[in-house]
Amino acid sequence: MALAKIIDGTQIARDLRARVVADVAAFRRSTGIVPGLATLLVGEDPASEVYVRNKRKAATEAGMADLHHHLDVGIGQSAIAELIAELAADDAVSGILLQLPLPKGLDSASLIDLIPPVKDVDGLTTLSAGLLARGAQGLRPCTPTGVMALIDSTGIDLDGATAVVVGRSELVGGPASRLLLERNATVTVAHSHTRDLEGVTSLADVLVVAAGVPGLIGANHIKPGAVVIDVGIHRTDHGLIGDVRFDEVLERAGWITPVPGGVGPMTIAMLLANTLAAARMQAGIPAPEAR
Ligand code: NAP
Repeated sequence: MALAKIIDGTQIARDLRARVVADVAAFRRSTGIVPGLATLLVGEDPASEVYVRNKRKAATEAGMADLHHHLDVGIGQSAIAELIAELAADDAVSGILLQLPLPKGLDSASLIDLIPPVKDVDGLTTLSAGLLARGAQGLRPCTPTGVMALIDSTGIDLDGATAVVVGRSELVGGPASRLLLERNATVTVAHSHTRDLEGVTSLADVLVVAAGVPGLIGANHIKPGAVVIDVGIHRTDHGLIGDVRFDEVLERAGWITPVPGGVGPMTIAMLLANTLAAARMQAGIPAPEAR
């Protein structure tokens, strides 16, 4: 069998970001509004600092206002809550992103829930999750929407297809399964209690792996010709690897995302798309037709 085609997340993210840049420029011309992304970083976690720096840079490059707040590690829950309330009421702020994880002692879930749904560009509040569960309009979490864009880039018809998601987290697996269901796929969600993982995944026309276990999925887990999306990211001495044993699965799948260069670049692209969508909602402008 021929090798799987590689889904080039870097290129797909670049194309999406170019469209967002053009759309932001058009939005600014027609409304005079500059979409603003407020990023909140608490403490000095080096990985979070890199993530936030990249998000801020991407927002600036897209023509948005970079409204950053770096808060001291000792700041209390109520001071962060007050800041979120101020940002929620500020018309210059289109989107609010609270970088996770927060330092110990802070309750991230209750702080996230202070972000109003129209400014929830990470799509992680309870209200946004509820809107997604109901199939109602709202902002959706960035990594799962990035996963959907990668699946769509293959041209596969999801309607009636068998999709398996490995992982059920609130950040990735859970919302990814709901987005697939929304597109009329027949969805199975596997998790750490699943008895016969291989038996379940090998039925999938589309397999999304977000388990956070390096190399969990090998060739025996794959239906020949399947679309395989690897969300996992793990730093090793030999560079980044995913949850999927890429070299093995390459010989069996029809399509596969690499790590790095697959899902990773899509997350920031989707954050920008969400920030523009949030600015549009706040200005009362309907979303354009999908392109
Ligand atoms: P998480 O919160 O740890 O959730 C992992 C999920 O996988 C859980 O539902 C867990 O099941 C399930 N699981 C764990 N071991 C399993 C096994 N052996 N078999 C089947 N299921 C198993 O992780 P997450 O936040 O969803 O992230 C998953 C991975 O994606 C991580 O590697 C993370 O670094 C990566 N990630 C990448 C991006 C990106 O932009 N590319 C963004 C976010 C996350 P239970 O529910 O039963 O515990």
